[in-house]
Amino acid sequence: MTTAGIVEAARRAGRTLLSEVESKQLLEEAGIPVVPTRLATSRAEAVRIAQEIGLPAVLKVVSPDITHKSDVGGVKVGLETVGQVRSAYDSIMSSSRAAAPTASIEGVSVQSMAEPGVEVIVGATRDPQFGHVVMFGLGGVLVEMLRDVSMRLVPVEPRDARAMIREIKGLPLLQGYRQYAPCDLDSLEQAILGLSRFLEEHPEVRELDLNPVLCYPQGLVAVDARVVLEETSP
Ligand code: ADP
Ligand code: MG
Repeated sequence: MTTAGIVEAARRAGRTLLSEVESKQLLEEAGIPVVPTRLATSRAEAVRIAQEIGLPAVLKVVSPDITHKSDVGGVKVGLETVGQVRSAYDSIMSSSRAAAPTASIEGVSVQSMAEPGVEVIVGATRDPQFGHVVMFGLGGVLVEMLRDVSMRLVPVEPRDARAMIREIKGLPLLQGYRQYAPCDLDSLEQAILGLSRFLEEHPEVRELDLNPVLCYPQGLVAVDARVVLEETSP
């Protein structure tokens, strides 16, 4: 489905929160690399999709009521066999239901397991007055703890994107440090610019989080995505 189709379907259903699967479709259309991800609504379907996408796979709970999937035991990575996919499905369902008994669960997302890389966050929020602000930072606890992020208003120009990447304190980590391979900063710049262009075309996006994006010496890929729409079209 196209971005317009996804947005319209959500609107018709009275939803402002897009699922991980829908969010990734939007980003793919924006030219940002995402891991192939599909929704499965049964154990058998999860197995079939995993085989189609190719193992190793990752399974995650899909629920509009669960924001932090790992917190409820809703993420299983590195599934190498069909048997592991089956038991991951059961384990995700039972632990998510136990941790969030009132959550409505749509199924699981089945996706390819990405190679390890440096985890960064790319996100955006929309201010009613100033419009979209794009945010960039390192992934994980570092961002939360140190608030080591950079921000720019949309439209982000190429030199702003370059500056955003280079002004975070964690920059040395992106340039290669000890066990960390260097990140492809050009791809990161392209992703920020692609996101900025996408936001310019989509004022209906209120919040967007790619957390994390895995960065490699060549290229990058978003493995988790969350998009929230405005209640009504601005
Ligand atoms: P949460 O809702 O808890 O943020 P995520 O989808 O971000 O769930 O998954 C948690 C972590 O699992 C990520 O930070 C990442 O390290 C790892 N992960 C998630 N998806 C993949 C994937 N497709 N390939 C490799 N690692 C992944
Ligand atoms: Mg995440």
